[in-house]
Amino acid sequence: MSEADELLRLAGRCMRCGFCRAPCPLFRSTLSDGSTARGKLQTLLAILRGELGRSRGAMLRVFECTTCGACAQVCPAGVRVEEVLEGARRSFLGELELPVHQWMVEATLSTGNPFAAEFEPGVRGEVVFFPGCTSHFRVREIEDACLSLLERTLGRVGVLRFCCGAPLLTFGGPAEELIDSNRRLLEGVELVVAHCPTCTKVLRERYGAEALHISQVLAEHGFEAELGVRAAYHDPCHLARGCGVVEEPREVLSAAGVELVELEHSGRETACCGAGGGLPVTFPELSAELAKRRLEEAASEVLLTFCPTCYLHLSRVAGESLRVVDASVLLAGGAHEVR
Ligand code: SF4
Ligand code: SF4
Repeated sequence: MSEADELLRLAGRCMRCGFCRAPCPLFRSTLSDGSTARGKLQTLLAILRGELGRSRGAMLRVFECTTCGACAQVCPAGVRVEEVLEGARRSFLGELELPVHQWMVEATLSTGNPFAAEFEPGVRGEVVFFPGCTSHFRVREIEDACLSLLERTLGRVGVLRFCCGAPLLTFGGPAEELIDSNRRLLEGVELVVAHCPTCTKVLRERYGAEALHISQVLAEHGFEAELGVRAAYHDPCHLARGCGVVEEPREVLSAAGVELVELEHSGRETACCGAGGGLPVTFPELSAELAKRRLEEAASEVLLTFCPTCYLHLSRVAGESLRVVDASVLLAGGAHEVR
């Protein structure tokens, strides 16, 4: 079956019921049905059936999504929206002028990661920490904090550094070859502990790896501290909905002496911060608007998260207005990280 036929089959399951409208963070901002999963799927189907021209505006629709998973969670037809949009992005990217997307895809295919930089070598082990690209190249303090936390709870662990392929899936590149060649790096590894929720999800779903988020490991091993701080917690979409990890971050933070404040949208009903799906690159204003809505929910509380991408995006949009901190940095560094 060709990719177009497969897309027609998967997107064609949409019954146009509109249940995906209310939970979509984009719809909350744009109030346009075109932004919802239903709108995007119907646009895609119309393009594939030749009922709608392949204009830039129409094709860009499939890039207007954070892949937050809120629509798939409520979809009665079981439409795998993320998978459909990934396929559509792959089909359309070559016809669109999206230089940053094309650069990211080329860089990942030619150098192995979207930053076109070299990873420091890892250390083999049966249990390994997987920092992923964003922590390693953009927020090294998260990688260092996680390694310190794991040493305190598990003792010495290995470190495995490579790109899981998520940037290719997100920006419309072919990911299978990279994933296939990476699989050998997981030989002999029994447990991968990741911090990035997207990496955790991709390692589980695409590699079939036994992958846990670091909050799960810390909760299981009873990490305790006496931080004595108060903070709100932002559930990363790919952690809460993508991996079903909702309780463990709360358990760990409570056991460490954090008085947690729940946001209006939390747990599996979390609201996307706007950083996912490449939205900050494709639709930067919309992406920033989603972050502002999330920051408004936090009011004046310190805002914690457990994701390097959410951390970077929320803290960039917040500027000096609100303190945004990654939970791993707080747990490893102590209360002064939020004061
Ligand atoms: S909830 Fe599912 S079936 Fe209903 S409109 Fe949205 S994508 Fe289509
Ligand atoms: S994945 Fe999220 S942003 Fe994308 S269409 Fe579904 S609800 Fe909207």
